[in-house]
Amino acid sequence: MDFRYHYTKEQEEFRKEVRDWLKANVPDEMRSRHGGSFQDLPEHVYKFWREKHKVLAAKGWLYPTYPKEYGGGGLSANHETILTEEFERARVVRGFSMGLIIPTLLVWGSEEQKRKFLAPVLKAEKIAFQFFTEPQSGSDLAGIQSRAVRDGDDWVLSGQKCFITGQGDPDVLFGPLVTDPNAPRHRNLGFFIIPFPSKGLEMKRQNLLSGHESCFFFMDNVRIPGGALVGGDHQGWQVAGTTLEIEHGGRGIAFPRDEALSNLIKYSRESNHNGHTIGEDPILQQKAMEALINSRIHTLFSKRNYWMYQARQEMSYHGSQNSMYGKVFRMVNADLARDIMGMNSLLDDRDPRAPFEGKAEAYQRSSLVGAHPGGTVEVQKVIIARRIGISRTRERAAATPSTSGVSGV
Ligand SMILES: Cc1cc2nc3c(=O)[nH]c(=O)nc-3n(C[C@H](O)[C@H](O)[C@H](O)COP(=O)(O)OP(=O)(O)OC[C@H]3O[C@@H](n4cnc5c(N)ncnc54)[C@H](O)[C@@H]3O)c2cc1C
Repeated sequence: MDFRYHYTKEQEEFRKEVRDWLKANVPDEMRSRHGGSFQDLPEHVYKFWREKHKVLAAKGWLYPTYPKEYGGGGLSANHETILTEEFERARVVRGFSMGLIIPTLLVWGSEEQKRKFLAPVLKAEKIAFQFFTEPQSGSDLAGIQSRAVRDGDDWVLSGQKCFITGQGDPDVLFGPLVTDPNAPRHRNLGFFIIPFPSKGLEMKRQNLLSGHESCFFFMDNVRIPGGALVGGDHQGWQVAGTTLEIEHGGRGIAFPRDEALSNLIKYSRESNHNGHTIGEDPILQQKAMEALINSRIHTLFSKRNYWMYQARQEMSYHGSQNSMYGKVFRMVNADLARDIMGMNSLLDDRDPRAPFEGKAEAYQRSSLVGAHPGGTVEVQKVIIARRIGISRTRERAAATPSTSGVSGV
């Protein structure tokens, strides 16, 4: 069996087209310092990418596999794989929207909602943030308390959300709110697309340890139109399930890149330790190879899920397994990096001696913070147990564009 991707002549030509375009259109100083993530972007870099994303979207390269009729690329998984590889190589900053809104609307949105809410996100004209967590409901998402009350054709919202990721200002927020406080858990939520700014909706920012900006939102009688409800009045749990299925890793990644691992191997190969490279030290060599294997296992989970998703295979524990393993291995590899690099791994980008311009230190922080979003390590284990049928409660994977048969995955 061969796990390598093979590309046709046409696909290699497409790769060249993408590579040449990025070379000509993305100056070095605009490339991400942190792989594809958007941590700590200076204002001028953020503005550059806001405009560039619109151009990439118009070429069909920003959201390649999603339907063309709503502003996606209408391209194949092979195109997406090539684009992911080239974007990673060129350190392209990814779209600022929480892209999870896309599969959610593809599965649950009405035609009108797809045109109104999905198309502007796919075209990078509007930015969407994921509006799920509340002070009392992180892991226990079903314990959401923020309310949505019907008033004529409108809904009136009150409550608060926290730890919402995003740089710049959003145009819309998407997430569940309580529509029936008397109904049992999981049957008491509606799922809404909320315009920002709106009267009565306040946003406050906080910096996380990782350098990510995090937002807190406060809703005080925020009025939104009836057409902002996605799915039925009490279907919010099922709609949110689609968002979470993808967030947990159910779509996989065609080309997961682990820059921290590449840097660690480079450091082991090149750094001098008592006249030898670090890689020649028998103890440190063991640690570096443990980090390498951890990373490779995660790559295999990610690629397997990507293949299963594109092949429209039924999935169960696979997304959460990918998420859980990813979170754990990054923390383990951060420990290994400290063993290998010593105090150098803790020098930040203000110190000229910092390896990889401080990226090694940034990894120490982001690997810890990254254990939380979209469900912690423990929560992913709970989901896996439910799905393989050894838990008190049992559950199946939520609907995704892959399994619900919509066009464009
Ligand atoms: C970097 C970052 C980005 C984020 N981005 C977003 C975003 O864009 N939008 C959004 O809505 N939210 C976002 N979040 C919030 C995130 O989803 C929550 O932090 C997460 O769901 C955990 O909730 P909590 O922080 O309230 O922890 P808690 O739920 O209070 O959990 C505390 C601890 O208890 C453990 N625990 C809880 N329940 C169980 C259980 N049943 N079994 C075993 N252990 C359990 C947890 O694993 C954890 O270790 C983000 C968080 C971070 C850190």
